[in-house]
Amino acid sequence: MRFLADPARVSPYRPGERSEDVMARYGLDEVVKLASNEYPLPPLPGVMEKVVAAAARLNRYPDASCGALRDALGRHHGVPPERVAVGNGSLELIMLLADALLAPGVAAVFPEPSFALYRRLCDLHRAEAVAVPLGADRCVDLDAMAAAIGPATAVVIVCNPNNPTGTYVPAAAIAAFCDKVPDDVLVIVDEAYNEFVTASDSQDTVELARSRENVCLTRTFSKIHGLCALRVGYAVASETVVEAIDTFRQPFNVNLVAQEAALESLRHQDEVERRRRLTAALRADLTARLEALGYTVLPSEANFVLVDLSGVAAPGDDVCERLTALGAIVRDGAALGLPGWARVSVGTGDEIEFFLERLAQLAASGD
Ligand code: PMP
Repeated sequence: MRFLADPARVSPYRPGERSEDVMARYGLDEVVKLASNEYPLPPLPGVMEKVVAAAARLNRYPDASCGALRDALGRHHGVPPERVAVGNGSLELIMLLADALLAPGVAAVFPEPSFALYRRLCDLHRAEAVAVPLGADRCVDLDAMAAAIGPATAVVIVCNPNNPTGTYVPAAAIAAFCDKVPDDVLVIVDEAYNEFVTASDSQDTVELARSRENVCLTRTFSKIHGLCALRVGYAVASETVVEAIDTFRQPFNVNLVAQEAALESLRHQDEVERRRRLTAALRADLTARLEALGYTVLPSEANFVLVDLSGVAAPGDDVCERLTALGAIVRDGAALGLPGWARVSVGTGDEIEFFLERLAQLAASGD
């Protein structure tokens, strides 16, 4: 058949392994999943009630325009609702922008290692993937990215904090970068982990999208709000960009339950703030304890850390798979372009203990 993309030539997007699958594979009673950067606790107060109430209206189509949610998000960020788009996860919004922009002969500039989706989208649209290596500090190298923009570039993606490194660039640096980008090139700032940032320099990047036509921020209810199974994310951008997203999306892209849950969750900013502080404290503790054991950990502003586990066992040993076999499911850096490293989500305190115990067990067995 005449499919536009050959699956064998499209870079994969591999989701983290499901706990059920790992339990079945290794015959385990208990596993801890720290492989998908999920929030480890249930939804915020009041959200479950809205979900249950919405279930009674499943026979009706949802609001195709996500009107109430866009209004609320607009108020939250100080922009008119016309500058907000809602998607089936922030992933859908990035995919829609790729649909709207990428084609053979067109280029996208993005960092690497970063979120695997970016390269995949180029492959799907047979567009040119201009992957810019991270800097020496493993941060997104904005100068190199600006230099990589050429006449064919239609879109530049900055992932901040960057997945899988957790490293962060301040809003002021992104603003200076945007000044170098031609007006007809879209800058997507993928901020899936924005709410976990606690660095003292500003994290308010919304001003970038408020003041520029060609900047699109994407955020999500999947992470700090703990609603990833419902699939709802949003973009703050110019009306032109929102219109492009609206043109390419299916009419009812965000389901009723997701809209209701996100609307309620957004009301609990005090809880979001509490989660931010809690995650930061656990992240600092996890980092300090890994460092005390002699492992290198990158400074993270997200809800995960990237740790070099290459010293744990003899070379060639699949450390992450061995951790998974012990019930601690982490993401293997090898699949992310960082062999020897593991990406570990910040779980609950108990989950972190579980992971550290399994790591100690593995390290001891390699002696
Ligand atoms: N961007 C980044 C950098 C991510 O890591 C993820 C999910 N892991 C997403 C976007 C997509 O998130 P969602 O579609 O759940 O909003």
